[in-house]
Amino acid sequence: MMKKPTIGVLALQGAVREHVRMIEGCGARGIMVKYPAELHLCQGLIIPGGESTAIGKLMQAHGFLDEIRSLVLAGMPLYGTCAGLIMMASRLVEGDQPLLGLMDITARRNAFGRQVDSFEADLSLRDVEEAERPFRAVFIRAPWIEEVGRHVRVMGEFEGRPVIARQDGMLVSAFHPELTGDERVHRYFLNMVEELSGG
Ligand code: GLN
Repeated sequence: MMKKPTIGVLALQGAVREHVRMIEGCGARGIMVKYPAELHLCQGLIIPGGESTAIGKLMQAHGFLDEIRSLVLAGMPLYGTCAGLIMMASRLVEGDQPLLGLMDITARRNAFGRQVDSFEADLSLRDVEEAERPFRAVFIRAPWIEEVGRHVRVMGEFEGRPVIARQDGMLVSAFHPELTGDERVHRYFLNMVEELSGG
């Protein structure tokens, strides 16, 4: 077991505190990251949900895009929820906005339709602890993953659409596990951090 890892939550916009709380509940240290220099304190990073156009513009304006890209390419684990998933995608079905473009997926924004703002569903997830137990997932104007590249492992679907996936040290979910009491996705990410830091 490695020393308690520090996980940063990008704190430009969106559901930041809930992730920090969840990370702390899982026994790691969670910090809010407001400046690129703070990324160097972190063994892993979470990009929260929110509004991806706003998060992308703020990331660009604050110099986060290149800094996060190079840290992730050097091996820092990254987890994006909802708008964070969109930021990590290499391609969007529609629209032109700043993206990190790190993961080999195509994302469709607001994929579940405008009328359906938010909903909950029981998902069956692969690879997490106690995978036979359904995961109650909260979707809020969520994207889905339209296409995945060869090296992407789909860990769960809703109505046949991938909504959680991993590629190397990168994890994305279209839903918001930080808004439920279920820690299994955050624990899965913390295990990735431990594995990838050779702990
Ligand atoms: N609809 C938002 C977007 O496209 C994402 C919503 C969320 O993060 N909860 O960026």
